[in-house]
Amino acid sequence: MYTASCLCGAVQFKINTEISEVFVCHCQQCQKAQGSAFAAIAVIQTKDLKIIKGQDSFGEYFSTENKKRVFCKNCASPLFSARLDLPDVIRLRVGIINEPLNAKIGAHAYTTYKAAWLGIVDHPTQFSEGQS
Ligand SMILES: [Zn+2]
Ligand SMILES: [Zn+2]
Repeated sequence: MYTASCLCGAVQFKINTEISEVFVCHCQQCQKAQGSAFAAIAVIQTKDLKIIKGQDSFGEYFSTENKKRVFCKNCASPLFSARLDLPDVIRLRVGIINEPLNAKIGAHAYTTYKAAWLGIVDHPTQFSEGQS
């Protein structure tokens, strides 16, 4: 069980599940969407994300026809992404979680596009493109 919030605090979530694995996505869309070298993601059931407040602050951007990226319109924090063909899961951006996360890295994805200055030293599971 965790709580999560955006930078400005307009959006607040409760996460009603354990998170044991974090997936690191190095694709170019995630790099641009985060303004960083990668996105750090927890895949959770949509039903386990409870919106405490701030749904009216959600902005949505479809980076593909099938995938929306949801952010706070007020402070621009990335919140989660979701695929239209997989409505039961969302990909939470773990940087918005308030408590220390007791998780390990599950895998690195799209390492073909990894920033050259970033070394991966933490886990052997790497996918050069996406994962299933
Ligand atoms: Zn915000
Ligand atoms: Zn990505």
